[in-house]
Amino acid sequence: MKTLDESVDSPFRDQLRVNYHCMADANGGKKVNSRVLADLVDPKKQEIIGDLRLHEQELLSDYHADIIVNASGIGARELATDTQIFPVHGAVKIRRPEGYPADHAFLLPAQMNHDGSVSKAVFIVPRNDHTLVIGSITQRNNWQLNLALDSPEVKAMWERATGFLPVLKDTDHESQSLAQGLRPFSHLNVRVSADSRVNTCRIVHKYGHGGSGWTLAVGCARTCVRLVEEILDTGRSANAEVCRL
Ligand SMILES: Cc1cc2nc3c(=O)[nH]c(=O)nc-3n(C[C@H](O)[C@H](O)[C@H](O)COP(=O)(O)OP(=O)(O)OC[C@H]3O[C@@H](n4cnc5c(N)ncnc54)[C@H](O)[C@@H]3O)c2cc1C
Repeated sequence: MKTLDESVDSPFRDQLRVNYHCMADANGGKKVNSRVLADLVDPKKQEIIGDLRLHEQELLSDYHADIIVNASGIGARELATDTQIFPVHGAVKIRRPEGYPADHAFLLPAQMNHDGSVSKAVFIVPRNDHTLVIGSITQRNNWQLNLALDSPEVKAMWERATGFLPVLKDTDHESQSLAQGLRPFSHLNVRVSADSRVNTCRIVHKYGHGGSGWTLAVGCARTCVRLVEEILDTGRSANAEVCRL
């Protein structure tokens, strides 16, 4: 356990101890163009209604595909008829102030509830040269994407961040942008598994990553590829091994 780096100018610096630290690629966001990814995986932009299994043959034929991977996030509640899936609405503010160090990333519990659980966090993570992610807001079972920069929750989030790192106060609050979405949580955790309802099924499910979709992406993709190859090799829907992390 060690104290925070001396260059961190925070009124809480002396009260905090670093439990662990790791080296991470802070420029990851620069290398991934989400528009390119979206175009790659969703060329027809077709919304699927109801159980994916009912659309299986039609989709395989339309897309000349051998396998369907269901990576529909919160949509899996409907497409995989999985009632364990629920949304956790959240938002982050993004824009990196000039001179903000690339290696200063913080994730701290900021509010303790009566039952001892932690509900609010200070989340300050540089993503690339231009982007600093400030988070976060967590609202269980809220399907509405209705936060704005002047929402009380967003202002409170900003105050938590600037209370921890006062240097952020110098950035222009109004010119910041807000990104929000529904984190696809599951009461059972992540699911990466072949659909086992019928032996000949050609669907592999990969959803329920909660608030860690980017973090878990590579490992889950590897497991998913293994399942797809198994189905293609054996011609059957594997033994429907369920991988819950
Ligand atoms: C506020 C916020 C903060 C986050 N912070 C972090 C973080 O700190 N670390 C981290 O690792 N991750 C973070 N994430 C990522 C998040 O946690 C998710 O895990 C991740 O986005 C899930 O990715 P996914 O590809 O499974 O689902 P999604 O990104 O939701 O993609 C699902 C896709 O399926 C499509 N789809 C859904 N239903 C249908 C349908 N019926 N028909 C056709 N298409 C459909 C959607 O249009 C979408 O394109 C954050 C997300 C949010 C919103």
